[in-house]
Amino acid sequence: MNAHPDAVPHPPTASVDRVSRVLRHALDHGLLGTHQPVAGFIDTDGVRAGVRALRTAFDAVPDVLHTFAVKASSLVPVLRLLTDQGMGCEVASPGELRLALDAGCDPARIVLDSPAKTREEIAEALALGIALNADNLDELDRIDALRPAGCASVIGLRVNPQVGGGSIGAMSTATSTSKFGVALRDEGARERVHRAFAERPWLTRLHAHVGSQGCPLELIAEGIAETYRLAEEINDRLRRRQVTSLDIGGGLPVNFTDDAVRPTYDDYVTALRTAVPALFEGRYGLVTEFGRSLLAKNGFIAARVEYAKEAGGRRIAVTHAGAQTATRTVFMPEAWPLRVGAFDADGRPKHGPTVPQDLAGPCCFAGDVVASARELPVLEEGDFVVLRDTGAYYFSTPWAYNSLPRPAVHGYALDGGTVRCAPVRDAQTLDEIAAESGARHADGLLALTTARTAS
Ligand SMILES: *Cc1c(COP(=O)(O)O)cnc(C)c1O
Repeated sequence: MNAHPDAVPHPPTASVDRVSRVLRHALDHGLLGTHQPVAGFIDTDGVRAGVRALRTAFDAVPDVLHTFAVKASSLVPVLRLLTDQGMGCEVASPGELRLALDAGCDPARIVLDSPAKTREEIAEALALGIALNADNLDELDRIDALRPAGCASVIGLRVNPQVGGGSIGAMSTATSTSKFGVALRDEGARERVHRAFAERPWLTRLHAHVGSQGCPLELIAEGIAETYRLAEEINDRLRRRQVTSLDIGGGLPVNFTDDAVRPTYDDYVTALRTAVPALFEGRYGLVTEFGRSLLAKNGFIAARVEYAKEAGGRRIAVTHAGAQTATRTVFMPEAWPLRVGAFDADGRPKHGPTVPQDLAGPCCFAGDVVASARELPVLEEGDFVVLRDTGAYYFSTPWAYNSLPRPAVHGYALDGGTVRCAPVRDAQTLDEIAAESGARHADGLLALTTARTAS
């Protein structure tokens, strides 16, 4: 992990000024306030710049499809923005596939990667010409049975190069016992993979996603190098160029400690060039599946401080951003610490002496704390806290605990002195919460009774 964010000086850099301008705009326009105490914000220019950096880094590769891992920001307008910038979509469920299609993504630029695809999902993907990476050899048997004549889908096999894990176990997909892909170093596995390709001329891609946050670039590159060597070995043995593309996954880690984008896509490409120089020679088409690195630093959560209190000598700011929108941070605070900014009721950065404060959320369990003993200017009722770098896997992936509504999400662009905002997702209404909580079946359980319990 990077240095603990408590080491970051407050107030920090010019980006605080940008956040402040967006906050003031949001307050002036009713996007934040007592009735909208929490919302997510996405920097659309930042997203565009991220896509540009990604494409530039891979400029030398003649045939490359960059897909966006939809789970990192499962919001249709975000997917539309990304596809408009030339990205495809990586999806892992029928819901994500639906979002990608609703965003207007060309099915030929969608990759389906779920580890638990049903026969129905496989058949639909094959009918639409969506590329698909089988997670295991049994899935290939299903595809054998379901593949229509003249199927346009590129079909690959996900392998686990078993190069090891990074600092966050839950994010490491290439450990020896990972649930993903065919574990290449297991007894007999490599031979089984060779046979699978020999028996299926339509199996033309290898896929590896080595890990996400917490995995060093060298480890990811080593996993991709393993996959490259396997592709060469398959083609050599078959004496034909059957494997024509490599899907190298995503997983570029994000720096959550300050404003710097570190590592960059260029750093990633340099690590890949070192580990697999031939990867950029055009022998294989490439597919990438980045998620967090494209969105994380382009989003923040703003939440109103509802109460400021003290317990056992500790100051606590009770805010509206807790486990419902910062789920990972609340449950794994050591692995997912966030930078926090303190702003006043008018959206201006707070200054002055700092004291350690807990930032608690609205959920009714004691652990609903987003930051513990964080040094911040004293927070008071009506102030705002901003959780930085939360553009991926935070407000886009809410948790329904306590029937708290999904917060609204807004896109923004800063143009010289002006801020413009556009809606991305409306806040969930109470009617919607009730509907999604079975209101339609309100009487459903009353009739389910037995003679013994009926009274
Ligand atoms: C989650 C995931 C990604 C994206 O990972 P990031 O760390 O967000 O870049 C890419 N591919 C697969 C198969 C994934 O599961």
